[in-house]
Amino acid sequence: MSTPVTTPVLPAAPAAPPPAWIEIDLDALAENHARLTGLMRAHNPAAEVAGVIKADGYGLGADIVGPALARAGAPALFVAHLSEGAALRRALRADPDPARHALPVYILNGMAEGERADFLAFDLRPVLNGPDDLDRWTRAGQAQGGPLPAALHIDTGMSRLGFDEAGFKALATDPARLGGVDIRITMSHLACADDPAHPLNRRQLDRFRAVAAAVGRGRLSLANSSGLFLGPDFHFDLGRPGVALYGVNPVPGRPNPMVPVVRLKARVLQVRTIDSFESVGYGAAARARPGMRVATLAIGYADGWPWSAAGKGEVVIASHRAPILGRVSMDLVTVDVSTLPEQLIHGGAVAELIGDHRDVDALAKDAGTIGYEILTRLGRRYARQPMASGQTQVYPIGVPTPQTEVDPAP
Ligand SMILES: *Cc1c(COP(=O)(O)O)cnc(C)c1O
Repeated sequence: MSTPVTTPVLPAAPAAPPPAWIEIDLDALAENHARLTGLMRAHNPAAEVAGVIKADGYGLGADIVGPALARAGAPALFVAHLSEGAALRRALRADPDPARHALPVYILNGMAEGERADFLAFDLRPVLNGPDDLDRWTRAGQAQGGPLPAALHIDTGMSRLGFDEAGFKALATDPARLGGVDIRITMSHLACADDPAHPLNRRQLDRFRAVAAAVGRGRLSLANSSGLFLGPDFHFDLGRPGVALYGVNPVPGRPNPMVPVVRLKARVLQVRTIDSFESVGYGAAARARPGMRVATLAIGYADGWPWSAAGKGEVVIASHRAPILGRVSMDLVTVDVSTLPEQLIHGGAVAELIGDHRDVDALAKDAGTIGYEILTRLGRRYARQPMASGQTQVYPIGVPTPQTEVDPAP
């Protein structure tokens, strides 16, 4: 007879503080929602601001920003995929206030064949992007005994998703086609909202007015983040901002009207003084001078820190600035800490990579991309830590001394 093997139960996750993390300021998120609501209500007291939280809440964690936006008063949330909607519904159902359990969640990409049961099970609403979506949701309603809620998306110049010109004309000439669905939102999406001078903005506005007159049902919604800053004509009933909620500037080239939401932090793994070698990192891209001190941080391009921003910008360690040095590795970034007081820089010290000294937009500029891409590429390895505005520290900072590690009894 063989001895039975017992496999010890694993802890859910390491108990030690993480090597890199994202701090998400929930007060700032609520403040940004309030600012956009104020902007709309200055002209339309009944206006409301929904939250777009596709791509896992623009990289911040939809399970964090979704419930937070619900608490801030968002009347609906938008994601792109069914799977995102399902996960979000779970997160909303976990909210202590049952009033938020049934918050409307819309799936921007519409409903594909075979998804009906999941839409119903997770209480999701499709954005109807064309006749196929409309047919499927109409049939779902027939099977359920009555029209089901949805949003209607008409393309006014993006040529991406939504009823096209011919599809819209068919609806406009025969509105009875919409009789089997319960349209709560009629929407379109702006292509050039971040460029106020672009003539397409006005053309899309005119087309959307025609859409609203012909088939508009429920709340009318045209503006994303930047669209809300094109003026009250673009507001209609429901704002659909994403990126501005997370603190990215919706008015490029002008001062950012939003407050920052994201801080990105990583620990120092090692510090070394360069003696004989003359370069740092891959490609020997950074020249070092003898005596230079280099700290290596626990973050790399696999975490979404852009490879294309190599050698640009600074991090902040204990209120001191340290220039980023050399290429970005998969898991590591090196910084020049030569001018920093030696006692402050040690393994375990914390470096701030996104924060007051360098916001998402500044990093995006250095990387040759847009703030949207920086946020949505934030990787899966970070701890995502919701915080309040005044809160300064979430994890113990500094090197654990040997005495702090208590060995379990043998
Ligand atoms: C992503 C998206 C938004 C939000 O856009 P932002 O520019 O992040 O404000 C709104 N509507 C639709 C249809 C979208 O795809």
